[in-house]
Amino acid sequence: MAKGLLKHQERQNALSLLGKDLTRRASSKCELCEASGVSLKIYEVAPVPAEPDIEHCLMTCDTCREQLTHFEKKPKHMQADHWRCLGKTVWGEVPAAQVMSVRILRQMSEKYPWAAEILEHVFLAPEIETWVEQTD
Ligand SMILES: [Zn+2]
Repeated sequence: MAKGLLKHQERQNALSLLGKDLTRRASSKCELCEASGVSLKIYEVAPVPAEPDIEHCLMTCDTCREQLTHFEKKPKHMQADHWRCLGKTVWGEVPAAQVMSVRILRQMSEKYPWAAEILEHVFLAPEIETWVEQTD
C-alpha cells in the first residue's frame, strides 16, 4: 500500500476519535451552515496540525464540504448564496468556524457587497485574526 494512503488512513482514524466530542460541540448540526438531520463529517481548518486537534476541526455537512473544496481550488465555483449563513456563524463561539467564515467572506466580498458588509461589522479577537492569515 502506498505510504500516503496509509498516512491518510491513520489520520482518519485519529480524527474519528474526536468525532464524539465534535458532535456534542456541534449539537449534531453543521458548524458552518447549521444544517441539521444531515450527515456530518470532519473538516480540518488550515494550518492543519501534525496531530489532529479538535480546535482545528469542524463538523460540516456535505454541501459545505463541497463548497470548501471549491474554496481551496476553484473559488469561482462557489455558490455565494449558500454562504449567507456566515453572517451568523462568524459571531459564533467556535474559533475554527469563525476563521473559516472570515476566510470565505473575504473571498466572497470581492464580488458580493453583502459579504463585505458582514466583515465590516464583525469583531475579531487578535488570535482569530492571526489564524485567518495562517493558511499553511
Ligand atoms: Zn453546512
